[in-house]
Amino acid sequence: MRHLRVAVPVPALAPLTYSLPESLPDPAVGARVLVPVGNRVMTGCVLDVSSSALSTADPGPTSIKPILDLLDDRAFLPPDVVALASWVAEYYACGAGDALAAAMPPRAWVESERHARITDHGRSRSELEGGHRRAMLVALASGKPVRTATLLKAGRGAHAALLALERDGLIAIAKPLKGKADASRTIRVAHLTAQGAEAAAWETEPDHGPRLGVRQREALALIRSAPEGIDTAQLAQRGIGAQTLTRLAALGLVSLIRRRIERDPYDLQSIVVAEAASISLTAEQSAALARLTALGSAGAFRAVLLHGVTGSGKTELYLRLARHTRERSRGVILLVPEIALTPAVAARFRQAFGERVAIQHSGLSDGERHDQWHRIRRGEVDVVVGTRSAVFAPVRALGLIVVDEEHDGSYKQEETPRYNGRDVAVMRARQADALVVLGSATPSLETYSNAERARYDLVRLARRVLDRPMADVQIVDMREEYAATGPDVILSRALSEAVARRLAEREQAIILLNRRGFATSVICRECGATLDCPNCSLSLTVHRAAHRARCHYCNHSIALPQKCFACGGQFLEQVGFGTERVEADVEAQFPQARVARVDRDTIRRRGAITSLLSRFAAGEIDILVGTQMLAKGHDFPRVTLVGVISADVGLGLADFRAAERTFQLLTQVAGRAGRGTIRGEAIVQTLFPHHYSIRHACRQDYAAFYEEEIAFRRAMRYPPTLALINAVVKGRTFAAAMHDAADLVRAVRAASSAFRVLGPAPAPLSRLKGEHRAQFFIKGSQRSVMRDALLAALNARPDIARRTIVDVDPMSVL
Ligand code: ADP
Ligand code: ZN
Repeated sequence: MRHLRVAVPVPALAPLTYSLPESLPDPAVGARVLVPVGNRVMTGCVLDVSSSALSTADPGPTSIKPILDLLDDRAFLPPDVVALASWVAEYYACGAGDALAAAMPPRAWVESERHARITDHGRSRSELEGGHRRAMLVALASGKPVRTATLLKAGRGAHAALLALERDGLIAIAKPLKGKADASRTIRVAHLTAQGAEAAAWETEPDHGPRLGVRQREALALIRSAPEGIDTAQLAQRGIGAQTLTRLAALGLVSLIRRRIERDPYDLQSIVVAEAASISLTAEQSAALARLTALGSAGAFRAVLLHGVTGSGKTELYLRLARHTRERSRGVILLVPEIALTPAVAARFRQAFGERVAIQHSGLSDGERHDQWHRIRRGEVDVVVGTRSAVFAPVRALGLIVVDEEHDGSYKQEETPRYNGRDVAVMRARQADALVVLGSATPSLETYSNAERARYDLVRLARRVLDRPMADVQIVDMREEYAATGPDVILSRALSEAVARRLAEREQAIILLNRRGFATSVICRECGATLDCPNCSLSLTVHRAAHRARCHYCNHSIALPQKCFACGGQFLEQVGFGTERVEADVEAQFPQARVARVDRDTIRRRGAITSLLSRFAAGEIDILVGTQMLAKGHDFPRVTLVGVISADVGLGLADFRAAERTFQLLTQVAGRAGRGTIRGEAIVQTLFPHHYSIRHACRQDYAAFYEEEIAFRRAMRYPPTLALINAVVKGRTFAAAMHDAADLVRAVRAASSAFRVLGPAPAPLSRLKGEHRAQFFIKGSQRSVMRDALLAALNARPDIARRTIVDVDPMSVL
């Protein structure tokens, strides 16, 4: 008897074992199968096949059900990706199907829905059949197609019956859809007709031919200049509308043809990038590239930290390394935090690799993502640029993974499976004998300590390209500022003056505050009540333009109240401020400046961020106000000033990474200034000018920050000096959550003394989305022992397990 281990997309479920009916061939690892799960039929993915009998310790073969169908005759997911997903399931303590679902393209599960339809032959014979065959023909009698999964629910023998009906020609089974039918997009292209070409003559001989208006003549001239034809959308941009074109077409001068285009999901055309050929590497870059290519050529697993200050030209190295890898016929994955925020990197790769690159990001539709995945799977693409889930891309013969801005929090998925794309990248490189390059100006403590302990190689870029100086950073102590100018100041005098100066020079400024909204809370001056979220232990944020107060965690919102809901008082005060308020203040202070805001509220619409950033790049905006989105790897050469309204936003959080995040944010945002020929400056406003994360960021001194921070982590026994697992137990009441968490804690503690268990305690966000949350930590040096103990405790209490979030290597413990 042959057996299969199959992962099915059911939360937290371990792989299931099935037998393989005689009629089916051995499936490939990574092929999809239809399997019964409870009383449902689901699509699963084959993890492995064993042809030997199960050992006697296993349950008897009677309790093992056969699979119902095999959907692929080859691996659907490549075996290396199956192996990677299995590792993710184990490491992050989630279900096998949870991890595989993260690696699957969209529509992989539903696509497997096959439909059966009765044939004429089947109709004529249905009276003559019996058993399953009869029942199936009856179910199909109306002529409507029925999902095979439904027919297969009939139980034992159903599968064989279905196959036989198809073989005998009584039914037809529609093959699963491959690809999206309408996957391609069309544009209308205007071409000059032969007659239109002749019309050139008329311009000099006004008495000849039909009389053309100015617009029409303009249109003809434009179309004539494009022998390949010209997109009507482009003509529209130049003021030539459909009417003009229709008229020209009616005169027979122009033909309008629909042309299918390869869908380019991301408009990179608008982004201007320097020509690759014009860049010659600096000495430092050359040396770094030589080391990286040597490591890459070895054909063995290597992990490297590329620690390069902001503006040191890391992108150029990624690009050349990728080219080198491709020349060795091996594939490349480049992970970036968020493509919309750093379109230039993607544009650069598109420019270099053309059709051989796939750009994956969160703005893609399911259809686009599906098409792209299959292109990669077919081997039509050998460079993939994408956000964290691209780490699972089915790239062939992987030779290089680059993780740009490896410290970035967006690599961690904050829902099941809670993996960190950077760490999965390292594991994938290990499994593929590939090189993984982790690049950052502000490496995570984890990565830097791995480099210090020589587990990773370290390559440094200590200088900016062309010896551009780092920005001068000035700290403004806001305590003094408040004392001098009153408590309502948002822009200090120093920052205001600097903005005015830069505006006068026609340079650009970025102003950062990592908090959106207009005001952070509403307080009643009579009774002191605050306007809190009914679902979360947080106050509502005022969004003035929208006239609403909104919870930033659960999105609950209400119209801004006129009176206190507690005492009916009339004097509601808005306290604290966010980006919306900063924008308003900047606009009021600099009415002549063109100001725009970038935060999650202004970029909801697809493409909004791209258009804002390209307007900024084109010099159509003078001042960009926004959240940490502005701190990511942008390269705007005309930005000479960066202002940080409050460096303290993240420092108050009860999170062991608070200082690290603050240091990274400040260093990165200061790194946006002075990337062109003019020296840049940064002005950082803070109430804690002596905090080490702020001091070191202002001097852009990573080494000094690392020394202090790692000492703190060691003293407090936090990662990376120890492994950490965070478990959050949710409950309908706080007492219930604490009680359940205490049960788990007891069981975990009893399992081993190789680690420490802290808690339970209320989670810092003790109420979220209507649920109360209790939390405990497991700290130790052996992650697997810790994880096994926790899993055993959860398996013993499935009732609690359903309400428990397990976060291995948490990024945030809120
Ligand atoms: P980083 O990612 O290290 O902050 P980037 O890769 O964004 O830096 O490079 C900063 C700028 O310098 C980019 O505009 C890039 O095109 C340019 N650049 C990179 N290398 C060179 C070089 N060798 N000579 C001139 N300009 C360069
Ligand atoms: Zn809420």
